[in-house]
Amino acid sequence: MNFLVVNPWIYDFAAYDFWLKPLGLLYISEVLTYLGHNVTFVDLLDRHDKDLIAKSPPKDKKYGTGKFYNESVEKPAILKNIPRKFKRYGLPLKLFESKLETINKQNKIDAILVGITLTYWYYGGEKTIEILRNIFPSTPIFLGGVYSTLYTEHAENNFSKFKVNIFPGTGIFPLKKVLELLNEELTKLNNFNWFEEIDLTYDFYDSYLTYVVLISSVGCPFHCTYCVTPKMWKFQYRSIDKIINNIEYILKKRPYVKDVVFFDDAFLLRKDIKELLKALSTFNVRYHLPNGIHARRIDDEIALLLKKANFRTIKLGYESYDFNIQKGTGFKVTNEDLVKAVTSLKNAGFDMNDVYAYVLVNLPFQDKENVIQAVDFCHSLGIRVNLNEFTPIPGTVEYNELIKKNVISPNIDPLLLNNTIIPYWSNFGLSIEDLEEVKRYTKSKYSD
Ligand code: SF4
Repeated sequence: MNFLVVNPWIYDFAAYDFWLKPLGLLYISEVLTYLGHNVTFVDLLDRHDKDLIAKSPPKDKKYGTGKFYNESVEKPAILKNIPRKFKRYGLPLKLFESKLETINKQNKIDAILVGITLTYWYYGGEKTIEILRNIFPSTPIFLGGVYSTLYTEHAENNFSKFKVNIFPGTGIFPLKKVLELLNEELTKLNNFNWFEEIDLTYDFYDSYLTYVVLISSVGCPFHCTYCVTPKMWKFQYRSIDKIINNIEYILKKRPYVKDVVFFDDAFLLRKDIKELLKALSTFNVRYHLPNGIHARRIDDEIALLLKKANFRTIKLGYESYDFNIQKGTGFKVTNEDLVKAVTSLKNAGFDMNDVYAYVLVNLPFQDKENVIQAVDFCHSLGIRVNLNEFTPIPGTVEYNELIKKNVISPNIDPLLLNNTIIPYWSNFGLSIEDLEEVKRYTKSKYSD
C-alpha cells in the first residue's frame, strides 16, 4: 500500500526547534517500510525542507537548533483574550498544498497517517488535516499520538468533521489496529520487538539534517506526580549493539551530521549505561540530552564517561529546591543529588554553559519565592536554569487532584492547558505578573 505520513504544523504562541523530530511517526514509517509498504513522509516542521529553503533559508543556531519558519494567524475563539501573538510554525500553507498536489499526481495514496504529540497542539493537527482532507477527499485518514491517546473522546468529537479515524495507544499498537482495519497482513509483527529491531534511518528525509534524534530507551521507572511517561510506557532499553549500528548507518549515509540527540526520559537509568557511554565514544559527534536526566545517577565515573563520549548539552531534572515538593512529587532528586552531580560534571571538565537544571514553575499552589529559591540554588552551583512551566496532563496525580478540587473541568479544552497561557486564566499556581517576574529574575541572574 501507499501511505502518506504527515507531521503536522504547530499552532502556538511560541515554538522553537530544540531538536524536534517526529519520532513516533518516524518509527511508524520504518515499520511500514519493514512490512513492504511505500511511505511518503512530509514533515511540516523540517526547517531544511528543500522547497522551503528556496523561499526562506534557515539560520542554524547552536548545535543545529533554530527558529521555525512562522506566520501570524488568527487565534481560535477560546484563546481570543490571550494578549499574545498566535502563530503557525512550519512550512507555508501554499507550499504544503503544492507538495500534496504533487504527491497526489504521482501516486494513489491509500491511507494517510498523522500524529499529534502535545495535547494542546491538536489545533495545528486540525489545520493540517483540513488541508489533507481538501486534497484527498476520500482517502482514509488515521490520527494517533499522545493527544489521541490522552484525549480520545475529544479527538473523536473534534476530528469527526474530517472523517478521521482516531487510533490511541503507544508503540506499534495503533499501527496494528490501522493495518487490521485495512485488511493488511500482520504476521510479520507477531512477537515483534519493534523498539529493539527497528532503526531510525532518517531515510525519509531528502533534506539536510542539522542533527538527528534517537531514543535508547522508552519509559521511566520513577512515578512523578506531574509526568505521564510511566503511565504510557513500560521502561525498556535497546541493546547497545543496535544503538551503535543505528548511528553507524546514519553517519555512513550522512557523514556531515555532527549532533546526535537522545530524547530518552531516563537515559542514565539502564543497567549497562557505562558500556553504552564507552561505545558511543567511538563516533566523532556531539551528543545532547535535552530531557531532564537523573542527577542521582551521575557520579565521577559517569560524568567522565559522558565527557569522553563528547556529551555537550546536559539537562538535569531538578524541579524544586523545596524538600517537601521533591518528596511529594516522586523523589527523583534532592539538593544533595544535584550538588554531587554538578561537582562531578565540573570535575570532568564540562562547560557549565551547557549544563542546565529544569525548574518547575506554576505547580498548583506553588509561590514565586519557591521558584526563586531553586533558581538561586542552581545559580550558586554555576549551572544554568530552564524554567519548565507546568501543565496538568490527564492520567497524572496532579491532573486528578485539580479535577477533584474542581480547579479544572474534565471537559476542559486542551488548548487552555497550554503551559504558556495557564496563568492568564487559572487560579492555581502563579499569577501572570508573578510568572513574568520570575522569568525576569532568572534572566537577570544570568545576564552577566
Ligand atoms: S523521572 Fe522524569 S520521566 Fe521519570 S517519571 Fe519523573 S519526570 Fe517522568
